Parts: sequence; C-alpha cells; structure tokens
Amino acid sequence: MARKLRISVDHNVCVGNSMCETLAPKVFVLNDDRQSEAVNPDGDTEENILEAAENCPVSAIKVVDAETGETLFP
Ligand code: SF4
Repeated sequence: MARKLRISVDHNVCVGNSMCETLAPKVFVLNDDRQSEAVNPDGDTEENILEAAENCPVSAIKVVDAETGETLFP
C-alpha cells in the first residue's frame, strides 16, 4: 500500500502557473486567487506528486511522509 503523504503549498511564493495541476490534477487545484491547493494527497502516485513538486518553478510545494515526518521534497 502506498504511504500517506502530507503536501503543503507555500502561498507566499506560488505564482499560479498551474504546472502542479497539469501534472497531478487530482491532487492540486488552483483556487480563485490562482494559488495551488493540495486538495487530495491520495489523488495520484507518489512518483507523480514528487514530479509535480520538482517542476514547480518556485519550489512552493513541500511533500512529507505523513507518518514519519520524513521530508520527501525538497
Ligand atoms: S507549480 Fe508551483 S507556482 Fe505553479 S501553481 Fe503549482 S505550486 Fe504554484
């Protein structure tokens, strides 16, 4: 079974370019202010979620193992 992830988006740096939403649309959704929200951490594979985080141009996305607290990205 896939491990549980905790995902956060830093709205102080998110520039709303939708890259995360394009790569993992069930996980990331832009709100009315064009800020990404991690609406469903179980919405995609860990690999795809990490790829979305890696492709954020401003490194706004943080991914943590929800059980151990281990940082998976950045
Ligand atoms: S890829 Fe980064 S900057 Fe772009 S919408 Fe997602 S969190 Fe915001």
